[in-house]
Amino acid sequence: MGSNQPGRRVWYRSAKGIAGFAIPLGLYLALAWGYTGGICVLYASVGLPCPGCGLSRAWGCAWRGQWLEALAMHPLFWYPVLMLAVWAVQRLRRGRSNRWFTVFLIASCALFFAVYAVRMAALFPHTIPMVWNRKSFLWRICRGLAALFRR
Ligand SMILES: [Zn+2]
Repeated sequence: MGSNQPGRRVWYRSAKGIAGFAIPLGLYLALAWGYTGGICVLYASVGLPCPGCGLSRAWGCAWRGQWLEALAMHPLFWYPVLMLAVWAVQRLRRGRSNRWFTVFLIASCALFFAVYAVRMAALFPHTIPMVWNRKSFLWRICRGLAALFRR
């Protein structure tokens, strides 16, 4: 019984840490959803789409079998499945060097940012999902300030 205590304490501490992060984030996302119409932190706050914007809509299209629409919403919508598979292989190889997994993660981030740069150059701000959010918090603040100075 006593040997269970340290493990339980670690679990409790990490649960507290996760809750301390997840609860404020959840409240912010709920607020963002209500006021700006988006749950993406960057899109709701600043008004710009992020490298992941369009992923959930792409998955929705893929779920309905609309593959071309899914690619249009996010060309890398299939990539998280590959990442999950690579992560599973990495877990099975536990104990051996996993430097290649770190390289894979860095390369994945680079790939997402490269695709983001191309999408921003080609699609922003006229094609969904790479559009400007005129209901974002920053846009509303700027509009409010502009109205204040016009008086
Ligand atoms: Zn986003």
